[in-house]
Amino acid sequence: MPAAKKTFRVGLGYDIHRLKRGRRLVLGGVEIDHPLGLDGHSDADIICHAVADSLLGAAGLGDIGCQFPNNDPRYRGISSLRLLEAVAGMLKRRRMAIVNIDAVLLAERPKISPHAQAMRANIAASLGIPASRVSIKATTHEGLGAVGRGQGMAATAVSLLEAKG
Ligand code: MG
Repeated sequence: MPAAKKTFRVGLGYDIHRLKRGRRLVLGGVEIDHPLGLDGHSDADIICHAVADSLLGAAGLGDIGCQFPNNDPRYRGISSLRLLEAVAGMLKRRRMAIVNIDAVLLAERPKISPHAQAMRANIAASLGIPASRVSIKATTHEGLGAVGRGQGMAATAVSLLEAKG
């Protein structure tokens, strides 16, 4: 019997949320002490959302908006790590394995480097892969645009999947 054919699939994710007083700031599943948090239906964890969208895109499964509708009360205030767990289950059922993920946070502040290892560990654990397969980087927006003025934060991610058979 011939060996199952392997194919690779790449996906891109992007997310942006407004910053608001009185909201927790959760990035990569890490709660960060900060005067402002990201507004949204779930915990508004834009890093997890960008990662989830990149994985769903690579798998051809749409996006988190269609998989986890934001008018569904089940997802109110939910940890976005739970959404990643659900995405990992969808990939597994389709025999798709995650090769690696690279994510970038766009934010003026705070510095995320002290939290990057914890974010990698959280995301990797939710997806059932080693932390070495997850990269988290950050850049400021050099004061330019809405992100530069500190009105919001954005994140983008790419994922590579290996599809078996
Ligand atoms: Mg989002």
